[in-house]
Amino acid sequence: MISSLLLLLAAPTSELADIVTRIPTRAPVVALTFDACQAGRTMHFDEGILRVLRAHPLPFTVFASGRFVRDNAAMIATLSKLPGVHIENHSWSHPADFRLLSDDDIVREVALADQEIERVTGRKPTLFRFPGGYADDRVVAVVGATGHRIVHWRWAEGDPARAIDAGQLVSQTNERTRPGDILILHINGRGWHTAEALPALIDGLESRGYQFVELESALEAPPTVATRESKKDR
Ligand SMILES: [Zn+2]
Repeated sequence: MISSLLLLLAAPTSELADIVTRIPTRAPVVALTFDACQAGRTMHFDEGILRVLRAHPLPFTVFASGRFVRDNAAMIATLSKLPGVHIENHSWSHPADFRLLSDDDIVREVALADQEIERVTGRKPTLFRFPGGYADDRVVAVVGATGHRIVHWRWAEGDPARAIDAGQLVSQTNERTRPGDILILHINGRGWHTAEALPALIDGLESRGYQFVELESALEAPPTVATRESKKDR
């Protein structure tokens, strides 16, 4: 538990160039992302989160390990067909720290996950997220050369920590969220209170004027304050 908390809270990613930590915009938009990590033991989708997302459809992105995709192929395929939902690359086997891998192993981790995600969804990922957020200039360059944009976060919810209860998840989201933020939660059963917090977390942001946007298209063409209303009308 403590180690996962540290992984999320201490990951020194924001200092590195070439890692996206927010959508560059002043418009009140946020992107909802979930990590679906799987190293060894088979993990499964958090059914409570899926129920919330079914009741309140939103654009969201799942950064999934290739092994998670392999072991949850039917649900991954179903989700990937929903409007605004994308499955992106979170490595094949979720190594604890990519900085310890050789260049060849990094390329292999990225390629295997790409292949599995494309096999299941029909779409090749364009984004990548490092397990635990651990990265340095070398590993960023190696992954960058595979053609993926690396997407992390400006602040992490820390939902794998049991002590962070639903009320805290909601209140920290309301307090910390700024325009363009990329929210990170866990959908592989690692989030203790995530499903419980999600409805109020979504309502809290929407009631404060935030719109949930598709991460991929928002990074391609960041929403501007002026065009946000006209986009809605299309
Ligand atoms: Zn992960």
